[in-house]
Amino acid sequence: MSMTALQDLLADFAARRDWEPFHTPKNLAMALTGEAGELAAEFQWLTPEEAARVMDDPDKAHAVRMEMADVLSYLLRLADVLDVDLEAALKEKVAINERRFPADDAAAADGTDAADGTDTAGR
Ligand SMILES: [Mg+2]
Repeated sequence: MSMTALQDLLADFAARRDWEPFHTPKNLAMALTGEAGELAAEFQWLTPEEAARVMDDPDKAHAVRMEMADVLSYLLRLADVLDVDLEAALKEKVAINERRFPADDAAAADGTDAADGTDTAGR
């Protein structure tokens, strides 16, 4: 299913429930943030090793998938309401990051800036 088809699915879901008045950019951005927090909560207090194996537990895996779907839903809905072409935005951002973090740059390899040790990998 294409991104546009997913957005149409979500727009239809909202329209059939008369939720459009609530789907303002502010509300959608806040909902997106809340769902990102719910996704993060699935990993809260796990060790790095436990987090890497989170999909091994069917119940936990389901919870992670559902929170990821929530995040995607609100991002797609926000982009639809703001008329943002997410595919174009993503391609632009990757191009920007390609220039900021050249793959052949030694600093990019370990994710730290050689000058001051700050993180340069977007983490
Ligand atoms: Mg959720």
